[in-house]
Amino acid sequence: MLGTSIRLTVESPDGEAVCDKILQRLSEIEQLMSVQIDNSEVNRINALAGISPVAVSESTWTVVTGALRIAEASDGAFDPTIGPLVDAWAIGSDHPRIPEPAEIAALRLLVDWKAVRTDSGARTVFLEKTGMKMDLGGIAKGYAADEAVRIATENGVRSGIMDLGGNLYVMGSKTDSRGKSVPWSLGIQRPDATRGEILGVLQARNCTLVTSGDYERFFEADGVRYHHIIDPRTGYPARSGLVQAGILSPESSMTCDGLSTAVFILGMEKGLALLDKFPGFSGLLVDKDHHVIPGKGFPVADFSMDEEATAPDAGYVLESSRD
Ligand code: ADP
Ligand code: MG
Repeated sequence: MLGTSIRLTVESPDGEAVCDKILQRLSEIEQLMSVQIDNSEVNRINALAGISPVAVSESTWTVVTGALRIAEASDGAFDPTIGPLVDAWAIGSDHPRIPEPAEIAALRLLVDWKAVRTDSGARTVFLEKTGMKMDLGGIAKGYAADEAVRIATENGVRSGIMDLGGNLYVMGSKTDSRGKSVPWSLGIQRPDATRGEILGVLQARNCTLVTSGDYERFFEADGVRYHHIIDPRTGYPARSGLVQAGILSPESSMTCDGLSTAVFILGMEKGLALLDKFPGFSGLLVDKDHHVIPGKGFPVADFSMDEEATAPDAGYVLESSRD
């Protein structure tokens, strides 16, 4: 889930200690929510699918219920029970494959966010059908970014960058060489390019930007790109006409993360309609012809596609390392 490069920059006299606390929390989140880890809470929910509810931590509860809210708002385009299809395609593993149509049809019956029963009193999660499988890969990284910011803030950090590969959170503003407070510049990945090439740069303070695209994890067969974001309505990698969806907000990276995956699946028109339901969240979408379309509320005046733009402080252009 967090199988990504993490880069933390905090402006603080004890930056090292703060980063250690954050990294410890990120690893805790991974232990709870990764499907890659056998005894994670999510895998316990999965093991007891069709059998019994599972009591979960407050963290997992927050992410599961957040995911269900996005599932409902997106009419199931985002579906945290996508697990059986993710497993069948095995994209990103060393043995990806194209499942048979009959297999896809059978597995689609197990992908059903409405069959996730939650009990807020007991704080339990129950997958009603045997064989269902929860996969929080489309949203947990956003939660992790929110937690990184929470911990940094609690430790007195007012300014910094939490970069969780595709999930970016910039805190406060940057102090330039003359000691002046200026916005951070965030590099937005150019789709279909190798990591490091940018589409443009956004000048912003205190906000989170989360990007989903078809270039993160994929394999190619007969000239077709099969990527890791699955459309639950077809069982195949989403083909909505978008190659990238970036979501910006001053609030919740978790919601941005869920929305970026949902918008990518829904495509331009329905994706923008979904964002209308989330005040405070705006999109920057890129279609397959590489037209860049800002949604309502996206701060276009602060976004520059100038190739000469100065190197951004944060985003894809940075090498993965830890400050
Ligand atoms: P990334 O993890 O590359 O940053 P996303 O946030 O878009 O990108 O999440 C993709 C992950 O979400 C997939 O690897 C898979 O675990 C999960 N996923 C795939 N399809 C869906 C879907 N329709 N709804 C919810 N989660 C999905
Ligand atoms: Mg996402």
